[in-house]
Amino acid sequence: MAIESINPATGKLLRSFDPLTDEAARQKIALAAESFPTYCQVPLEHRALWMRKLAFLLEHEIEDLSTLITQEMGKPIEAAHFEILKCASVCRYYAEHAARILAPESIPTDDSYSYVRWDPIGVVLAVMPWNFPFWQVFRFLAPALMGGNVALLKHAGNVPQCALAIESLVRRAGFPRGAFQNLLLEIPQVEKVLGDERIAAVTVTGSEAAGRAIGAQAGWLIKKSVLELGGSDPFIVMPSADLDMAVEIAVRARCVNSGQSCIAAKRFIVADEIYDVFESRFVAGMEAMRVGDPMKDDTDIGPLATVRALELLEAQVNAATHAGARILTGGERMLGTGNYFEPTVLTGVPRTSAVYREEFFGPVAMLFRAKDTEEAIEIANDTPFGLSASVWTREPAEQQRFISELQCGGVFLNAIVASDPRLPFGGIKRSGYGRELSAAGMREFLNAKTVVIS
Ligand code: NAP
Repeated sequence: MAIESINPATGKLLRSFDPLTDEAARQKIALAAESFPTYCQVPLEHRALWMRKLAFLLEHEIEDLSTLITQEMGKPIEAAHFEILKCASVCRYYAEHAARILAPESIPTDDSYSYVRWDPIGVVLAVMPWNFPFWQVFRFLAPALMGGNVALLKHAGNVPQCALAIESLVRRAGFPRGAFQNLLLEIPQVEKVLGDERIAAVTVTGSEAAGRAIGAQAGWLIKKSVLELGGSDPFIVMPSADLDMAVEIAVRARCVNSGQSCIAAKRFIVADEIYDVFESRFVAGMEAMRVGDPMKDDTDIGPLATVRALELLEAQVNAATHAGARILTGGERMLGTGNYFEPTVLTGVPRTSAVYREEFFGPVAMLFRAKDTEEAIEIANDTPFGLSASVWTREPAEQQRFISELQCGGVFLNAIVASDPRLPFGGIKRSGYGRELSAAGMREFLNAKTVVIS
């Protein structure tokens, strides 16, 4: 089947590509494997130079690249600009900090000298999603290439043009041809590629289903894997919070990337004392979101990326109301062309229902009332996921409880959850394992080689 690039705002087919044949995929793997021994010997300063050039190209071509993102997956153009700038920042971060992260670590023992060195492991396969079609790839590729690994990308089927644009940028920045290649693959081919003995490891950002399938195969093959999967992050608001700020950020946190972000706040857990006022102001905030043409600067929410995503979200909202939830605003797909869904607020979703345990990947919020800190933590942790949490309270003792008791990869106090090249990013439970970004992310695909000299 052809890999199709379709504008989700208009439904128009932009371009269509034939997937690689198995033989063509094998040739690309061969090129990657042949390039690795030479590439990993390229001096770090040289790789840093290419990485800085890559940052420069991203900034220089920001208009075209942002337009491509918006046309291919529907995110509002301003957010696409922001995404490109963030990619440039992660390139510069690793260009600057790789030497420190890769420096051998001396560890005193009974021997005369012992240390750990960080060696690259070879060809890493990256299976990536469409929601941040540049950022998700760059946050992997910058540390991978700076660490001396080479990479192959299997991008989401609906963003082939973004994938090709990234490959072209990396090449034009000066990296050798085998250092980073895009593979236009269909899902069944991923198993064959990962099964190739020349592939050392795999990183997946995507759904639980993809993570489970690829993680299981990687485990069986005894290949290193990192899984960055879904989330149903809590956004907790306690009585001492700055309510104006909490409401404003709550709306933004739910609607970021038109609601299609793993770290978007999805469950809003609000203390009883302030629940009613939060609810009415939050609903008003969601209703004020401007839904429309993603190419316009003042659009807050664009279309969902695919028809399948729209249908799934609609089915989830229906399942919630059938289970007993009430719709406070929205709840319907929008008439006309494009995959638009109304900003929606649900209350009373039963915690016993199947849909409560799912991730809503679109602008749909669930509200919950908590009688105290204890109950807020209990609801927040009552999810199969464990990506991150945003907590709004000014009480120091309460803050400490949330920090230590929330089961997730990151707690953000009085702040929106966001990734940052300097900080580890990732989850626990069914949100996956391993980390991206910072030193921790870079070291996931490096061999911590122990050296002992007696
Ligand atoms: P998805 O359907 O899992 O797709 C992600 C990637 O995996 C795509 O390249 C997809 O290919 C591929 N894929 C899917 N099933 C596969 C399988 N069985 N074997 C091999 N490859 C497979 O996820 P999505 O709908 O694009 O993305 C949304 C999900 O990603 C959400 O759950 C979101 O929370 C999660 N996400 C997590 C993070 C994080 O950092 N934790 C960040 C962003 C998104 P095709 O496109 O060809 O199907």
